[in-house]
Amino acid sequence: MSIASNLNSFEKRLKGTGCQLVAVSKTKPASVIMEAYHTGFSRFGENRVQELTEKYRSLPKDIEWHMIGHLQTNKVKMIASFVSMIHAVDSLKLATEINKQATRYERLIPCLLQVHIAEEESKFGFVQESLVEMITAGNFDKFNQLKITGLMGMATLTEDRELIRGEFRKLKQLFDKIKSLHMPPNFDFKELSMGMSNDFEIAIDEGSTLIRIGSSIFGARN
Ligand SMILES: *Cc1c(COP(=O)(O)O)cnc(C)c1O
Repeated sequence: MSIASNLNSFEKRLKGTGCQLVAVSKTKPASVIMEAYHTGFSRFGENRVQELTEKYRSLPKDIEWHMIGHLQTNKVKMIASFVSMIHAVDSLKLATEINKQATRYERLIPCLLQVHIAEEESKFGFVQESLVEMITAGNFDKFNQLKITGLMGMATLTEDRELIRGEFRKLKQLFDKIKSLHMPPNFDFKELSMGMSNDFEIAIDEGSTLIRIGSSIFGARN
């Protein structure tokens, strides 16, 4: 299947769902991104700062770049001037640095709080149980240059569809709970980033608004 037809079938699948596609172009060369761009698609996700920065420099400026991977504090300054959304804000330290760099560039940067929902130990993210407490305690209030637009999570890498469903469902419940709080003005909860090539159908079912799809569009990565 071509990139164009893959994108087309995703767009068809998502029509009317309220869910949007982030095409994850990590490891793929600029020419491949341009192939997608020429079909009229312009929302891409990358997980490495160096690669993202190089692609930003060489590709059309109307591309919406989403940083979807773990972001190191010392690299925020490399992407703060242009990034459209940061999906994986997983600590107050990182939020503090994004706020600082966004201030420098006079930007309001849309950010998602990453929540740890998987069984694996290695994944980053806030602990589900403590996030509500942190928000109500005012821990995020000072980040004036962040627009905290929702949550992001990654399910356990497993064949167990019910486990994945349960994890996504819990994330959606947390999202709804936070939405129902009296949120600080820098919160505008509307995005729930969950679902990748192997579990996006479940994620859509469970209320995802942003699926992050790489291999099902661009083919397997090396
Ligand atoms: C690579 C990656 C994806 C896309 O993965 P696929 O399985 O290729 O769809 C989504 N989200 C994050 C955070 C990633 O790093």
